[in-house]
Amino acid sequence: MSVETQKETLGFQTEVKQLLHLMIHSLYSNKEIFLRELISNASDATDKLRFEALAKPELLEGGDPLKIRVSFDKDAKTVTLEDNGIGMSREDAITHLGTIAKSGTADFMQHLTGDQKKDSHLIGQFGVGFYSAFIVADKVDVFSRRAGSPTSEGVHWSSKGEGDFEVATVEKAERGTRIVLHLKAAEDEFADGWRLRNIIKKYSDHIALPIELPKEQATAEGEETQALEWETVNRASALWTRPRTEIKDEEYQEFYKHIGHDFENPLSWSHNKVEGKLEYTSLLYTPARAPFDLYQREAPRGLKLYVQRVFVMDQAESFLPLYLRFIKGVVDSNDLSLNVSREILQKDPIIDSMKSALTKRVLDMLEKLAKNQPEEYKSFWKNFGQVLKEGPAEDFANKEKIGGLLRFASSKTEDGEQSVGLGEYIARMQDGQDKVYYLTGESFAQVKNSPHLEVFRKKGIEVLLLTDRIDEWLMSYLTEFDGKHFVDVARGDLDLGKLDSEEDKKAQEEVAKTKEGLVERLKTALGEQVAEVRVSHRLTDSPAILAIGEQDLGLQMRQILEASGQKVPDSKPIFEFNPAHPLIEKLDAEADEARFADLSHILFDQAALAAGDTLKDPAGYVQRLNKLLVELSA
Ligand code: ADP
Repeated sequence: MSVETQKETLGFQTEVKQLLHLMIHSLYSNKEIFLRELISNASDATDKLRFEALAKPELLEGGDPLKIRVSFDKDAKTVTLEDNGIGMSREDAITHLGTIAKSGTADFMQHLTGDQKKDSHLIGQFGVGFYSAFIVADKVDVFSRRAGSPTSEGVHWSSKGEGDFEVATVEKAERGTRIVLHLKAAEDEFADGWRLRNIIKKYSDHIALPIELPKEQATAEGEETQALEWETVNRASALWTRPRTEIKDEEYQEFYKHIGHDFENPLSWSHNKVEGKLEYTSLLYTPARAPFDLYQREAPRGLKLYVQRVFVMDQAESFLPLYLRFIKGVVDSNDLSLNVSREILQKDPIIDSMKSALTKRVLDMLEKLAKNQPEEYKSFWKNFGQVLKEGPAEDFANKEKIGGLLRFASSKTEDGEQSVGLGEYIARMQDGQDKVYYLTGESFAQVKNSPHLEVFRKKGIEVLLLTDRIDEWLMSYLTEFDGKHFVDVARGDLDLGKLDSEEDKKAQEEVAKTKEGLVERLKTALGEQVAEVRVSHRLTDSPAILAIGEQDLGLQMRQILEASGQKVPDSKPIFEFNPAHPLIEKLDAEADEARFADLSHILFDQAALAAGDTLKDPAGYVQRLNKLLVELSA
């Protein structure tokens, strides 16, 4: 045992404690993944070293080939992983192995339910990493030294995976990290060459550097134990450099888990080699599940960038637009320089053309998923649909393509599930229909029964029902698809075009003429509250509705702005009434101006309520209504 100095005991960050607890209790059915996670970290560590050594070759300290070694001791019940990667300093070990840096972690932990099955899914979103060692070990020793620091500055980190860990400074001759797992009594099956070899082949075959195990050798009796001979057990070549046809699905899946720090298989992937003016290979994945921090501004996103197979940076976000931030993958470029920086990436015109090509690849991949695996696409939509809806605003050039990927609820879907594509909507439009109709609102239940839909119901015309917070904003960018314009049915003077026959239109004009007097009386009664009063053609059952002015903010946007404390421009609705409704007929016949005014206000307030709005003077509404009820029952 070497000398340990500056020994101290430190507590884990609360979130780490929670994660450890969860890991140990919910991942026991899939214990062997600890090896994949530790190998994945070791591989990242050698990637980082190779990259840093470009500028500082002395970091390689002589230049032993980069590799990972896995060994075991049946008697001591240990499994040891050793890499000659970048290593960790004492401070690195304290922060990296004692805290979780991801923002939003505390929030995420609040979602844990204690139900192990559910939680193990949640943890999939989170990624497991180093702490998975404690699934099989009741004590973990980490010996590490950062490349380039003196051999006296090694660190020994040790923990039983409970509340705290110890760190001490030790001598460490070799650069890199050695992790010793002291297996729990019930887990000693992992101290076995055959078992380890199988796990490595299964999960880590794609790792680009050699993973070595001690060669099994029969030692003749009485012979001294000989020096270990090692053999490589994985394929040890960068997966994306191999031809597509030679890569099995399982290999693509395991590679994804490595680079995506994910626990579950991806939904789909797209692997392409581009040759010509620009040369690069990309391997892009659609994850199955949204990460917990999908909506966190500062959450890591982007692709892993390699230049001629040398790892250059993680989370290179310049290769894909923000609305595709959930895509994981690698790009390996032959054109970029090895010392490319984030700042350079942001300005380099090469990146722009790669970005637009990669964006197309992703959209094509999603199109294919939608077409060939509708069930998977449904699940994709549930996880990432809201993010994809940011697309039309961000990416004008691909608006049409993104439009084809969007899914909505409609007046023809039963349960509010967002399942109708625009192509599908257009394919089943009525004869004479040349517009895509939609209505936005708070909830499916509310919009589904909106009076705005009455005429559409009567004519059997489908209306898209949009109830996500982002929808009204989305629709301000998505103005047409496949040559068809979008029309908000709650907005402006609804013109159904050819869907109304010439006779219908004539009849409407006739009716409007006979109601001119009523229109004037209503204008006087409602006064400042309305921008306009007119006869409606969109109602069959309700007496009145409020339409939004063509240029005005919709209710949803207004509520979002108000909630965020912003000033909302004043706008007044248009009051439309149904001339055939008995209440309107009564109103028209009402000679008492005071009662006329009361009834008008009640109708106005009811229309606001039906649109999902709140009343400016709810008490006034109740008073008027009660007055009327008293008169009725008198
Ligand atoms: P993640 O890999 O998702 O960041 P981990 O919990 O697996 O999370 O690891 C935390 C950090 O510890 C890593 O990001 C890395 O900085 C450091 N680390 C883990 N294993 C090694 C290793 N073998 N060599 C160097 N650093 C490591």
